[in-house]
Amino acid sequence: MAANKKILLLPGDGIGPEVMRQVGRVVEWFDRRRIATFDVTEGLCGGAAYDKHGTPLTDETLAEAQRSDAVLFGAVGGPKWDNLPFNLKPERGLLRLRKEMDLFANLRPAMVFDPLIGASTLKPEVIQGLDIMILRELTGGVYFGEPRGITTLPDGSRRGVDTQVYTTAEIQRVARVGFELARKRKNRVTSVEKANVMHTGVLWREEVQKLHDAEYKDVELADMYADNCAMQLVRNPRQFDVIVTDNLFGDLLSDCAAMLTGSLGMLPSASLGAADSSGRRKALYEPVHGSAPDIAGKDLANPLASLLSFAMMLRYSFDMAEEAKLVENAVQAALKSGVRTSDILQPGTARVSTTVMGDTILRELEKLA
Ligand code: NAD
Repeated sequence: MAANKKILLLPGDGIGPEVMRQVGRVVEWFDRRRIATFDVTEGLCGGAAYDKHGTPLTDETLAEAQRSDAVLFGAVGGPKWDNLPFNLKPERGLLRLRKEMDLFANLRPAMVFDPLIGASTLKPEVIQGLDIMILRELTGGVYFGEPRGITTLPDGSRRGVDTQVYTTAEIQRVARVGFELARKRKNRVTSVEKANVMHTGVLWREEVQKLHDAEYKDVELADMYADNCAMQLVRNPRQFDVIVTDNLFGDLLSDCAAMLTGSLGMLPSASLGAADSSGRRKALYEPVHGSAPDIAGKDLANPLASLLSFAMMLRYSFDMAEEAKLVENAVQAALKSGVRTSDILQPGTARVSTTVMGDTILRELEKLA
């Protein structure tokens, strides 16, 4: 049996606790079946932390996250906390975690499960079997570059400025994650920028190529302009394996890729930091969706994005590719059996609760293990 792995669960607000409860059941199942043991701690984040401690993330919870091998995050926010001052808002808890853990690499897979092929707006023949990974640089670029701001000009009109800025180190560390990911997948990286019109794009292209030539010659590398990439993603998304790109283009392209799959309730993500001397990376795994206050507390939420985030944790933090596949196969089998939460309901399928979806996953895991 694999050694203990320290994980911190931060269920958060709204549907966060409901979907994380189902992840907790799968964690217990792994333990019971003696496949892997996890040393699990649970903490508060977001509105739940504010209600108890007056802050969306305490220093103690942050320290616990830093000590953990991986953080599994639910979702934060809701109308109850909408009028709090900016720095006390639930979302600040998540942003602080990302910043303090220096999570610079955001992984957003877009995978199409056969039974959900009808949920996409694209033709089945375009997306069948789709499995791509968008890797977005998360802590640099135009969202953080200085100078930034809005100034008033002498004639009374105003001027807004944002600055796109990247350094060799920032580009190479995210590109490195991309090449490493590709080696565990189909061994193909597409590096995306606008080298035709942006200096940061030229630098991006050159630095990625340099790293490739020095250390990753075995990985296939292609360059693509971001506007073309947006087009290619809806024209023929299966041409891609790993797409590595900057913060701004990654923001847009990952949402575009996400919608190829059709449903918010199915989308996992991971955010990784730099590797330490033992190769361990700080890591936070979370569903892409928010806290869905409209359905919170009703046992209606789809827990599959959170379960797939747990599968990503197994694969990327613990090198447990086989076990990750087991969870993904259980999701596929549950969908194939015809059960659906209401967000992915289709004609001829049965609407089930969050808990029953969790029951079905456990049953499928038993069959597959
Ligand atoms: P949302 O993702 O919470 O919900 C959008 C719509 O999708 C809603 O109709 C919701 O019911 C549905 N939905 C989302 N996840 C679902 C699931 N797992 N199963 C079934 N249906 C699901 O986005 P929103 O409504 O814009 O935001 C609600 C709150 O969540 C806000 O306070 C926002 O700030 C916060 N938020 C948090 C995160 C995060 O924690 N990472 C991300 C986005 C939004």
